[in-house]
Amino acid sequence: MSSDARRMIPSVDAVLRALDGDGQHPLGAEAVRAVLADVRKGVDASGELPALEAIVLRSREALATMERPSLRRVINASGVILQTNLGRAPLSDRAIAAMSEVARGYSNLEFDLAEGTRGSRHEHVRELIRRTTGAEDGLVVNNNAAALFMVLQVFAQGREVLVSRGQMVEIGGGFRIPDVLRQSGATLVEVGTTNRTYASDYASAWSERTAALLRVHASNFRVVGFTAEPSLSELADVAHAHGGLLLDDLGSGCLVDTERYGITHEPTVRESLAAGADLALFSGDKLLGGPQCGIVVGRDDLVATLRAHPLARALRIDKLTIAALNTTLMSYAEGRECEEIPVWQMAGMPLATVRRRARSWAHAAGAGARVIDARTMVGGGSLPGEGVPTACVAVVDERGADWLARELRSGEPGIVARIDNGRVLLDPRTVDPRDDRLVAARLRSRPPAK
Ligand SMILES: *Cc1c(COP(=O)(O)O)cnc(C)c1O
Repeated sequence: MSSDARRMIPSVDAVLRALDGDGQHPLGAEAVRAVLADVRKGVDASGELPALEAIVLRSREALATMERPSLRRVINASGVILQTNLGRAPLSDRAIAAMSEVARGYSNLEFDLAEGTRGSRHEHVRELIRRTTGAEDGLVVNNNAAALFMVLQVFAQGREVLVSRGQMVEIGGGFRIPDVLRQSGATLVEVGTTNRTYASDYASAWSERTAALLRVHASNFRVVGFTAEPSLSELADVAHAHGGLLLDDLGSGCLVDTERYGITHEPTVRESLAAGADLALFSGDKLLGGPQCGIVVGRDDLVATLRAHPLARALRIDKLTIAALNTTLMSYAEGRECEEIPVWQMAGMPLATVRRRARSWAHAAGAGARVIDARTMVGGGSLPGEGVPTACVAVVDERGADWLARELRSGEPGIVARIDNGRVLLDPRTVDPRDDRLVAARLRSRPPAK
């Protein structure tokens, strides 16, 4: 019986012909072969052979899956603005337009148009970095982890770097400060205790082998209670009194006063430099709201050394990043970040507006949905704790919160929500208002429960 059914399994060619136009597709045969292998297993197990139409349909679906890009857009309704797993900062329309223009054709990436001679890619962002951070000079590399690695290797290889025990952190995705230090060839010297470190701890740990003092501003957690940490200017005094460098890994690297948005103060790049950091390092795609990159700013002699180092070539950024970073920094230079940069548009959206959007989503979701008060988290290793007041839609579905969350994720585009107390929460604050209709439509059209 089973061997009879096996003989009836259509050939790859037969299915390809039935796929019509899709059958000509180079991936068509591969999709059909995979489906037929599955069919064969089914026949062996149960003796049942699906109809040709069913096999063709499955092949068409398999082909569609193969053709679908692996990296696709999702709607972030999770209520975390900077989600590393979801690609961190969305770019401004201005940045996207600039990237698209540069991507389409050629550019003056390393070409001086006035002189007709070779130019430097670093020049495109240097002036804007100086203007927006107040730094003497700046250099951009692939990401902040690369920036930290490079700075340590160039200025502390074979020597010691002092770091507070309270700052020996994992930032996420297995990125650990002690590992980066080791890889760079610098030797880590731990100072103080997890909760309390004093300037005098650094001073007494300083030896003739010490090259620098590294401050790590990792605020994805907070040690509360009996704590002490010297100010950055105290650290600068210690480092400079010993003829060493103060390196400040800011993580997020904020350029604006977050308190304007009702968010806990996040140290700004300007503050870091004003307090005496010789070099400050930060990410481009956290609170800056730009493309993935790592920006090093500070003393011009140090930045010049970095720029001339072979690692600057190995870790260099591409033209698309330069285009996006340029326009992002220009938004700050013009004082237009609130209107133009999505991270600040999200953080700054009035609660009443968010609530109105949440109400319309709740209306679309129907029975079992209501609007609740909640908090949007900034994320990206920045600003722990409080977050920004928001209004979420809480949806209860009798099939369970896991089922509903999966249902929302599985559509195109996937909608990422969070689960809280058996409910699915969707936060409009982290969603582009241009996607509101789409979210409402998906909530409205979810398959009915029995
Ligand atoms: C996020 C973070 C990094 C890593 O930055 P990437 O741009 O992701 O490489 C390094 N240090 C701190 C303190 C961070 O918060």
